[in-house]
Amino acid sequence: AQRETFSMEYRLRYHDGSYRWLLDCGNPIFGLNGEFLGYIGSCYDIDSSKQVHERLQQMSLLFQHSREALIITDAQIRITAVNQAFTDITGYGVEEVMHQNPSLLKSGLQEPLFYAMMWDRLKQVGFWQGEIWNRRKDGDTYLAWLRISAVRNEAGEVSNYLGMVADITEQRAAEKRVRELAYFDPLTGLPNRSLFTDRLNQALAHADRDNWSVAVIFIDLDHFKQINDSLGHQVGDGILRQVARRLRDNIRRSDTAARLGGDEFALVLPDAQDETVIDVVRKLSDALAHPYQIGEHQLAVTPSLGISLYPQDGQDGDTLVKHADMAMYQAKMAGRNGYQFFTAEMNVASFERQMLETSLRQALEQQEFRLLYQPLVDLKDGHIVGAEALLRWQHPQLGLVPPSRFIPVAEECGLIVSLGDWVLQEVCRQWQDWRDSGLDSRISVNVSSRQFQHRGFASRVGQILAEFEIPPGVIELEFREDTVMQKPALALETLRQLKQHGIKLALDGFGSGFSCLTRLQEMPIDRLKIHQDFVREVNRQQVGETSIAGTIVRMGHSFGLEVVAEGVETAEQLLRIQDESSDLAQGYHFSVPLPAERFTELLRYQPYHYDEPTWKTP
Ligand code: C2E
Ligand code: MG
Repeated sequence: AQRETFSMEYRLRYHDGSYRWLLDCGNPIFGLNGEFLGYIGSCYDIDSSKQVHERLQQMSLLFQHSREALIITDAQIRITAVNQAFTDITGYGVEEVMHQNPSLLKSGLQEPLFYAMMWDRLKQVGFWQGEIWNRRKDGDTYLAWLRISAVRNEAGEVSNYLGMVADITEQRAAEKRVRELAYFDPLTGLPNRSLFTDRLNQALAHADRDNWSVAVIFIDLDHFKQINDSLGHQVGDGILRQVARRLRDNIRRSDTAARLGGDEFALVLPDAQDETVIDVVRKLSDALAHPYQIGEHQLAVTPSLGISLYPQDGQDGDTLVKHADMAMYQAKMAGRNGYQFFTAEMNVASFERQMLETSLRQALEQQEFRLLYQPLVDLKDGHIVGAEALLRWQHPQLGLVPPSRFIPVAEECGLIVSLGDWVLQEVCRQWQDWRDSGLDSRISVNVSSRQFQHRGFASRVGQILAEFEIPPGVIELEFREDTVMQKPALALETLRQLKQHGIKLALDGFGSGFSCLTRLQEMPIDRLKIHQDFVREVNRQQVGETSIAGTIVRMGHSFGLEVVAEGVETAEQLLRIQDESSDLAQGYHFSVPLPAERFTELLRYQPYHYDEPTWKTP
């Protein structure tokens, strides 16, 4: 022992197994002759204060590392401590705010009354929380979520205030943005389709209660696509924004103008009378028809409007919108810059068909059809050996109409026969062009069912080929399975005649129908085109697994037919169908269908040609 004064802290284990912190303090005692007699001292139970100390240490850590800004003031509201987050958020260092009043954070955006009420509440219940605009040291204001608690001592008097500040500026902005994105179109700021639908349904509910009429107006801009394509998206966007402004300026507060997508706008007028609707429609079409000034461009964009009314034109939102759309479509067809009320005759099937039929008849005279050519590639060496001619209809108002929409109509009204003649003549003319520039290409032409079954089809084809002096083997006709399977005996006869004219025959989209294989064997077919679905499917197949495409290839080969894989979109699909020994391929992987000039370039330069079979899988 040192025989000196000592103090020590230690833990003692009690008989019940618990521990307590003790503090021993001792002083040495010496006898008269200076001899050491022992220690005198006391033992203190310091367990509770030890715990308080540890808690304080923890608190201090929490205080410093909290992501919320924390401020402690004394009872006189002078700052006694702030943490790191406080400095991060406000820009003030500890020394700058020590002993200051927290009012130095005020933005000036809040009324004095606001603060008065805040302190009032604090005094009464000891707690306040709410949103508050504060100002940073650099002058920026920010939105904060502030919580203040009064801290009382054991005597019940307020000894401190604790303030907690979270910067919620960004959070609020993000929330606002999410709300806007969900309901508003970012480009124009107008309600989007979902808010439009809400408002329409609301209007319908009110209309029922108050016996009102509701009008839905559909608006589409004529020529918008051309402007967008030729002058660029910025100009297009500029027009859409101006259209939105003009719409907003010409409707009442209770009306809703929305952008449904692209250049499609729609309005709901929740309490419409027939006369007022006409007024609104006239006003809108005038307002929208004024030229648009976008940068240096002055542009005329006229609108077509279609109107449907509740309750007479439809009982629910969807129907009203559909009918307004149809009315708009008719306004467009009747000439641009017009409006049209929905009428009961305009139901989709009859109306659209009738309109299409009328314009289809004109289309041939007006030369609105053209052909695109999609290369057909020989898988042996990548040579382009031919093309499939694909028909397009460029309608002056409707834009590009896909064959899936007009071919069935043309079939039904019998126009397919003269349309088919035109295609064949155009293809023959194209082949002459190629021949004259020293190029050689086979051309496949699609034939639809009605066309094939038309009496005299084969001789008509023979006649055209003779007219253009087309040698045998150049023109190939493609049929769907059902076309030749419907009346097999008759079909067989026609096919034989076609063969006599030197025409190659292909079964298109093979595998999708329920072809009778023995029948197939009887047909004088040269080629099978595997349906796109089965080509797409090879991706999902394991290597070595039998694919339907592979089965079709083997079956075709066993009948002595050439096999074409259609709709090859990826390099992987190409490798797989090569593995399956398909002879030819066609699809977006090589090229989309092209205008004649572009296809002619490909034919001349043969970009896929190779000497080494590089495509083969190792
Ligand atoms: P189809 O004979 O099966 O023609 C192939 C279709 O697939 C074409 O559509 C073509 O553009 C498309 N295609 C080509 N490669 C790919 C690809 O890699 N991926 C995908 N997803 N599609 C690809 P298109 O031009 O719309 O023609 C549709 C159908 O219209 C044709 O089917 C054909 O049956 C018919 N058709 C086209 N032109 C004529 C025609 O002049 N006369 C007749 N009667 N029918 C035609
Ligand atoms: Mg085809």
